[in-house]
Amino acid sequence: MTEETHKDNARRKYDFKKMIEKLQVKEGSGTELISLYIPPDKQIYDVTAQLRDEFGQCSNIKSKQTRTNVQSAISSILSRLKYYSKPPENGMAVFCGAVNKHGDRQDLECNVVMPPEPLNLYMYRCSSSFELEPLLAMLEEKCVYGLLVLDRREAYWGFLRGNRIEPIGGVTSTVPGKQRKGGQSSARFQRLREIAIHEFYKKIGDRSSDVFLQEKDFFERFKGVLIGGPSPTKEEFEAGNYLHHEIQRRIIGLFDISYTNESGLPELVDAAADALKGQEVIEEKQIMERFFKELVKDDGLAAYGEKSIRENLLIGSVDILLLSEKLRQSRLKFVCENCGYASEVTIRNEAGKDIDDYDPGNCPDCTSPLVLSAEDDIVDELTKLADASNTSVEIISDDFEEGSQLYTAFGGIAGILRYRTGY
Ligand code: ZN
Repeated sequence: MTEETHKDNARRKYDFKKMIEKLQVKEGSGTELISLYIPPDKQIYDVTAQLRDEFGQCSNIKSKQTRTNVQSAISSILSRLKYYSKPPENGMAVFCGAVNKHGDRQDLECNVVMPPEPLNLYMYRCSSSFELEPLLAMLEEKCVYGLLVLDRREAYWGFLRGNRIEPIGGVTSTVPGKQRKGGQSSARFQRLREIAIHEFYKKIGDRSSDVFLQEKDFFERFKGVLIGGPSPTKEEFEAGNYLHHEIQRRIIGLFDISYTNESGLPELVDAAADALKGQEVIEEKQIMERFFKELVKDDGLAAYGEKSIRENLLIGSVDILLLSEKLRQSRLKFVCENCGYASEVTIRNEAGKDIDDYDPGNCPDCTSPLVLSAEDDIVDELTKLADASNTSVEIISDDFEEGSQLYTAFGGIAGILRYRTGY
């Protein structure tokens, strides 16, 4: 994956996730929110024909309010579909309906979402909330790696999904230690020990099949297995072909690690960094490691916090801007229409809360009410500032340790500077 497409993907994923979160909290009073999924190979005129038919069926809806709302939503969708002679490349999803607002207010909202992958279903549904399952499924990690750590005493399994390590479970063996008890012949003891080791490897092989082969869409998504442990145990295990052949042929590499319980999984992923190069998990991890290295240096180039990063962006001193995928904030700009006074503020986008619920108060100069003049997602706004000074922007997911620290410890906004500044 080139650096550019990696960045575009991270950005698209952030926008897509945010859009879904926004739609998830919307509610209608009755079953009046329409979710319409149009796959790329569907004819638009078939869709509009069904919508007209549904419009006619609305006369059966008892509640007058629901009936009116569904009809307005259908009309609104129809007027949007006029602009399409055929569906976009990946198809489209339309979410439209009278959404409950504060008080007794309802607003007709219509959102058209272009999915990041082709839709494979056609669906028209009226409900009190939007149907988002097909889009949520697209957020699942597409690449999965199997993790196996072992020595002669224990073994542990897990998955690496994108950046996230998912522990599965482990087993311990009854292989006797190297020291035999008094009275046993050395040769017999060795023989029994070899048998026990072989049995344990067989058990690991069987359990690996249970764990890995049952992964959904194995042949499509399962990219390989990383095996960790001390030498020569893991080499012996690999050479013995104990794994199912479909897993055996997907072994990416054997890696020296010291833990063979759950703690071995992150150790294994670290040890396999070179083998996994080009995977998002490693790229993001390396950038965050660079940030932490700078952070602990006396004259390091790390900066964090919205205020400091904003000042640094304005003077062009940020080399890499680090933004957490978990950021849900907006930058609002206000003006006083009477005297021209302007102010800006960053607010959290809480679920179900509207920007217009934020009260900016009055102008400090002339006490006229302040009026909202611009609203930007914080990631968009900071990215614009970054672009002005050739700063590269990295959106960091929170499903690995350093990534989640970016959000919890540094407010989700940090940077690696070109030179040290006073901010
Ligand atoms: Zn004023």
